Amino acid sequence: MTQPFKQHLIDPEICIRCYTCEMTCPIGAIQHDDNNVVVDAESCNFCMDCIPVCPTGSIDEWRVVKTPYSLEEQFEWEELPEQQEMTDTAPEAEALDPAIAALLEEAHKGAGGKARAPESAAKPTINMYTIGKPATATVQGNYRLTDAGAETDTRHIILSLEGQTFPVLEGQTIGVIPPGVGADGNPHLPRLYSVSSPRDGERPNFGNVSLTVKREEHGVASNFICDLNPGDGVQVTGPFGATFLLPEDPDARLLMICTGTGSAPMRAFTMRRERTVGQKSGGMTMFFGARSPDTLPYFGPLKKLPESLLKTHMVFSRVEGQPREYVQDRMMAEEDAIAELLGDVKTYIYICGLRGMEEGVEKTLTNIAESIGTPWAALRDTMREEGRYHVETY
Ligand code: NAP
Repeated sequence: MTQPFKQHLIDPEICIRCYTCEMTCPIGAIQHDDNNVVVDAESCNFCMDCIPVCPTGSIDEWRVVKTPYSLEEQFEWEELPEQQEMTDTAPEAEALDPAIAALLEEAHKGAGGKARAPESAAKPTINMYTIGKPATATVQGNYRLTDAGAETDTRHIILSLEGQTFPVLEGQTIGVIPPGVGADGNPHLPRLYSVSSPRDGERPNFGNVSLTVKREEHGVASNFICDLNPGDGVQVTGPFGATFLLPEDPDARLLMICTGTGSAPMRAFTMRRERTVGQKSGGMTMFFGARSPDTLPYFGPLKKLPESLLKTHMVFSRVEGQPREYVQDRMMAEEDAIAELLGDVKTYIYICGLRGMEEGVEKTLTNIAESIGTPWAALRDTMREEGRYHVETY
């Protein structure tokens, strides 16, 4: 009898095809085709390097098997298979090697882990357009969001998909394939961007989506996108992501915490709520960190929103003459308001932006939860189980 073992798998429904795991794997055990990103059971050595870098937790899937799922099988999946019952398996065979279990435990620390969609979220479409069969979008607009003299060049890009079926929900991402080939001679992989417009479009029913893109020095995709002109064609993949979604429940309260271009999905959430729920005091709170007002995407429009729609805390780290402030510092200063939100079962938390912010935000949430006698780790796990806690950081 073949000895059962735990096979490492990737959830194709949740994976956003950012390929970070594949680029991180030191032994090339992670591969992709046009459809999915998969782990080769023959070569995976359980080093766990891929676990903490995954922005969605889709990498963290395990099945006890006697015969591993082949690469070909995994490439075909639209969802993960259920765990098969193994009546003849000794219970210890299902346990991970203790050393591997310890590594996994370590990788699970912090804000990672398996996310769930809010119960009332709309059902997302995923992976409709792939590397082999992308959609062609046409650029409708490319507007600079940061001041002309500001050190960062962040752009609001509007893409038209009119005439094509491209159903996208707030919180989902799409891939943009830069033209040309990389240093290895292969075509560039798509780069992932959250949509910053709501599902019915940047302009309702005009079949368009918007993205928020910051120009990175030497960035292949970001420079390509930031230099686009109206009328240009762009190859796009997706949509991806099945958990970082908006609850349809109009009574849901959103606590959104973001840095820089991590504000993209928060803009989409805000616009969707504005169009469907309208103003509702206490319904949405956002902590948004940037270096300075002139580098904060959507600074002007955000300032104009009424508090009854969105209570905005804009937090700046590099304003001359002012001490550095990060989102987690302002959250601590707003301890009472956050404690009230944490105590409400209608609260949904969304964290998006720089990976480095996770630790500080976790610490602050720990302090605030514990000040009201609630252990944060337990509350966070319950919220995650209930689809009320979402992290997407890179
Ligand atoms: P950024 O301008 O580099 O940083 C934004 C702010 O975060 C700055 O004030 C920065 O402060 C602060 N910050 C740095 N370290 C922090 C920490 N440990 N805790 C809290 N705040 C911290 O941001 P960005 O370049 O726009 O990056 C946004 C991130 O979002 C990227 O990693 C991107 O991949 C990700 N993202 C983008 C999208 C999208 O659709 N474009 C979607 C999802 C996620 P200092 O620099 O002064 O230290």
